[in-house]
Amino acid sequence: TQGRVYNFSAGPAILPEDVLEQAQRDMLNWQGSGMSIMEMSHRGKEFDGIAKKAEADLRTLLNIPANYKVLFLQGGASTQFAALPLNLASQEDVTDYVVTGAWSKKAYEEAQKYSKANLSAKGDNKSIPSPSTWKISKDAKYVHYCDNETIGGVEFKSVPDVGDRVLISDMSSNFISKPVDVSKYGIIYAGAQKNVGPAGVTIAIVREDLIGHARPETPTMLDFKIHAENDSMYNTPPCWAMYICGLVFEKLIKQGGLEVQHKLNEKKAKILYDTIANSNGFYSNPVEPASRSLMNVPFTIPSNPDMEKTFIKETEKLGMLQLKGHRSVGGMRASIYNAMPIEGVQALADFMKDFHSKNA
Ligand code: PMP
Repeated sequence: TQGRVYNFSAGPAILPEDVLEQAQRDMLNWQGSGMSIMEMSHRGKEFDGIAKKAEADLRTLLNIPANYKVLFLQGGASTQFAALPLNLASQEDVTDYVVTGAWSKKAYEEAQKYSKANLSAKGDNKSIPSPSTWKISKDAKYVHYCDNETIGGVEFKSVPDVGDRVLISDMSSNFISKPVDVSKYGIIYAGAQKNVGPAGVTIAIVREDLIGHARPETPTMLDFKIHAENDSMYNTPPCWAMYICGLVFEKLIKQGGLEVQHKLNEKKAKILYDTIANSNGFYSNPVEPASRSLMNVPFTIPSNPDMEKTFIKETEKLGMLQLKGHRSVGGMRASIYNAMPIEGVQALADFMKDFHSKNA
């Protein structure tokens, strides 16, 4: 569509254009109901159907086993940082945290308020410490890690083996970017606004035996049991955001599922990492190849950091937006979620080569 840009934002982020167009068509009058989804009762039959279909489609996409609940929550992934220890541990219980970047660090810090959080392993923002070296506490209530560090661009390529411990993963920035064996997890959670839909909804996939153990002081809104018993309708859910997520799930299923999307994501990421690798050191990505994120690709111009400002200005003129790196690390970051077309990635890679040859 005219005027649309290649949006490399880390989140809220690019959404599929056909999903936005569908939303536009539905905006004033959803399927002859005479109402926008934003205006409907969450308890009416129209929205009930939308919510049920969104959940069913997500179950299909991720092949979610029947003994897991899918919860549509609010408060962002950050609220889950507190909800996890409140639901699964007492103040004296040990919880294990693996820190591989800024987000898992935040989760670990929040858990210190509500449990005896133990730092099982710490990465260096370049690599992932091998799970065989993690110090798993004998009595840990769970082991938490972040599958994709949005700022550092560090991503797990397999499910870490933590034996019979309950494994919990923050998948906010790579949710539904690849097939995942849900049965290996106790809980998977993700804020939607990166790879799924608009800000405002957080999805949690929770194994049933982990529901119903919240300590008494847990706020009602953070208790998994309350949301599970009420099909995520204890209070008003984020209806609009859930509807858009539903359209995205439907699109991914039609497209052939997560295997297909994963292959495409690998192809897109390879274009950028190859461009960096073939730049004779002009561009640099600090992450070791085995842990490089398919979703967030940070890079710098180490020989001349001032040139990074020019890089960003020039890409903006060409309709490639939000490439500025996170304020804590600087440089550039290209977030290339599911919805980023390969043409956008190729356009960026072409620009990178051109910029390099002009400025080497
Ligand atoms: N975890 C990860 C991996 C993230 O990228 C983010 C958001 N940048 C969060 C958690 C926090 O999410 P929210 O803003 O939805 O609280």
